[in-house]
Amino acid sequence: MRNPFDTDERRAFRESVARFVKQEIEPHADAWDEAGTFPWEVHEKACALGLFGFGIDEAYGGNGFDDAFMRCACAEELGYGGIGGVIASIGCRSIMVGLVAGFANEDIKRRALPEILSGRRGGALGVTEPSGGSDVAAVQTRAVRQGDEWVLNGSKTFITGGMHASHYVIAARTGAEGGAGLSLFFVDADAPGFTRSALERKMGWWSSDTATLYFDDCRIPASHLMGEQDKGFALAMNNFNYERLFMCAQMLGMARRCMDEAVAYAGQRRTFGKPLIKHQVIRHKVADMSSRIDAMEALINQICWLVNEDRMPVAEISKAKFFCSTALEFCANEAMQIFGGAGYLRGHPVERIYRETKVMAIGGGSAEIMRDLAVRQMGL
Ligand SMILES: Cc1cc2nc3c(=O)[nH]c(=O)nc-3n(C[C@H](O)[C@H](O)[C@H](O)COP(=O)(O)OP(=O)(O)OC[C@H]3O[C@@H](n4cnc5c(N)ncnc54)[C@H](O)[C@@H]3O)c2cc1C
Repeated sequence: MRNPFDTDERRAFRESVARFVKQEIEPHADAWDEAGTFPWEVHEKACALGLFGFGIDEAYGGNGFDDAFMRCACAEELGYGGIGGVIASIGCRSIMVGLVAGFANEDIKRRALPEILSGRRGGALGVTEPSGGSDVAAVQTRAVRQGDEWVLNGSKTFITGGMHASHYVIAARTGAEGGAGLSLFFVDADAPGFTRSALERKMGWWSSDTATLYFDDCRIPASHLMGEQDKGFALAMNNFNYERLFMCAQMLGMARRCMDEAVAYAGQRRTFGKPLIKHQVIRHKVADMSSRIDAMEALINQICWLVNEDRMPVAEISKAKFFCSTALEFCANEAMQIFGGAGYLRGHPVERIYRETKVMAIGGGSAEIMRDLAVRQMGL
């Protein structure tokens, strides 16, 4: 079914992302995942398409306009590629550039944004700590003002892109306990007192780098405070909305890929004298997958429409996040089942997606936290 919100521009953008994924990423997906890394030039090629510059001025290397439908078309086509590790690594800049554009000082914006948005350098967002990620208001990393510097002490973990990033947005405590005492900081990877180490052997996203970051009397200029002191919690929360919407669209692409692969396989695989697709149980699996995919798309379209109207539908986004991760888990599971033993072998997109469903239900706000948030938004 044609998306009723499509325009020529949106369609052309979507096609350019799909072409990029098919030509530049998919042929290498298995090799890069097994290697646990991929060439840096992929960042530059992806960024050259303007994938992450929405809502950011051209003066800083951005696209000069915003469109939620295009953001989501990008995420969906990347997700359809079926290699989440590459998407996580190139896409992690998208969860920090909006904060930099909105709240870093002019010098940082002019210096760092063009580097990050062109793909020459990486950027990462550090919120989660070894002590926990769900309760953002409980961040323990501390920043203390000393003269014309901030001194950071603490640690962040599970930071996507953290090993290769040159620039970070870091949440740290500058005031009292709770959300009202948090601030955001811009930290360069060469800041004194900053080190990092790799988190290895993940369940999925093998080709992405994930880091633990350490701040030991890490000194950054006073001007690297982003926005107002102690007002970082609200900035981080608003930023999560875009991350979650991006993830929903990525999950839509992943679910679609599962269904398409399963349908293609069921068309040629024969059991009991006929193609699998002619067995009613398999046909029902396809119907169940397809209905969930339609629902995901409808939800995402509705949210995009609202975001383009300058309304940030927090409740709808949190509901969509857990709805999409549950729907994706269903589609990946059914697709794997249709493949039978063939799906159990490493290197197939469905096998990769199956391993990557879990992180979509945890990262960017877990399914439990999303349900909590949705109900709170209902005033309960
Ligand atoms: C591969 C990967 C990449 C990531 N990338 C980044 C990144 O780039 N930047 C970043 O900052 N973070 C990142 N994260 C961290 C991610 O955001 C956190 O893992 C997530 O927020 C959950 O935090 P936690 O793992 O500490 O779990 P916890 O907060 O310890 O929670 C554990 C479990 O308990 C549940 N739970 C917690 N509180 C409640 C409650 N009140 N009621 C019911 N259930 C509850 C949670 O949903 C979860 O299932 C990444 C994580 C992974 C796995």
